Amino acid sequence: MTSQITVLATGGTIAGIAGSAIAKDYAAGQISIEDYLDQVGGLGLEAEFSGQQIANIDSADIGPKEWNALHPAIMAALNDETCDGVIVTHGTDTLEETAFLLDLTLPANKPVVLVGAMRPADAVGYDGLRNFANAVRVASDPAAAGRGVLVVMGDRVFGARDVRKVRTRGTDAFRGFPRESVALVTPSSLEWFGAPWRTQGGAQFAWCDDLPEVGVVHVHAGLDGQSVGRFIGDTMRGVVIAGVGEGNLPEPVRQELVRRRGEGLLVVRASRADEGLVDREPEDEANGFVAARALNPQKARLLLQLLIANGVSDPAAIQQAFDGS
Ligand code: ASP
Repeated sequence: MTSQITVLATGGTIAGIAGSAIAKDYAAGQISIEDYLDQVGGLGLEAEFSGQQIANIDSADIGPKEWNALHPAIMAALNDETCDGVIVTHGTDTLEETAFLLDLTLPANKPVVLVGAMRPADAVGYDGLRNFANAVRVASDPAAAGRGVLVVMGDRVFGARDVRKVRTRGTDAFRGFPRESVALVTPSSLEWFGAPWRTQGGAQFAWCDDLPEVGVVHVHAGLDGQSVGRFIGDTMRGVVIAGVGEGNLPEPVRQELVRRRGEGLLVVRASRADEGLVDREPEDEANGFVAARALNPQKARLLLQLLIANGVSDPAAIQQAFDGS
């Protein structure tokens, strides 16, 4: 049966142009959704598409403005009974952040799939059409519902909370942690590893179009408390520490954060290590800190922003949300 897929385009390399098949430099976000879907029409996929241009930019520039346009557009598609699934085309650099934010704030009743490319559309070996055809395969499968927002890159399907860009080059730039991937996909096959996990179906958090200010501090040897204090300033409501090892930080930084915690700042400890699991330690209780568990710093930031926006400010309740994420 022919699936009805809504495609929301935001730009990135999947819509990028180099001007030559072998050029190194290129511009992301050049091809319009109409032209893109014209190309896709030649693939013979069993799907009909309706497209909408949300933005056409490099994903380094994606932020609240684009998210505030994207979220209602996805909701409209999910509420449209003729729509079987949604695909969002996106730059790969911040794809994991948009995916995770949407995962936390969308219902899981229909497939929502984010897809990108590592090579621009006119480059030799363009991966964007292959990834897109794979994304159509996933978005057309009713069994993709109940798994939250999914990311399709390089013949793999990742859960939004696991997925991370781990390489700056090459078409195998993504992996998942702690779950590696949740399915293998080609344009004609899809193999899920296990059952859907979002059995409740509803959104976990209400959407907020004005997320509070939360920063990320990247810890390095010799980092001092004063520069961290200056970075936090007067307006941040929370901070995520990309700590060394299992979310560790120099003593002067800990002291500064404990002092700011006394003024109401929320502090989450994550790790700067690629596969950083940060468990709660006894000192977290005394410090008033929260452990990010398996979330990397950029995703921990989004969860903390949503928690604050939804009125959660007690570290124990925030810890519970991170434990469950
Ligand atoms: N800089 C590009 C972007 O994130 C990279 C890509 O899409 O692969 O928009």
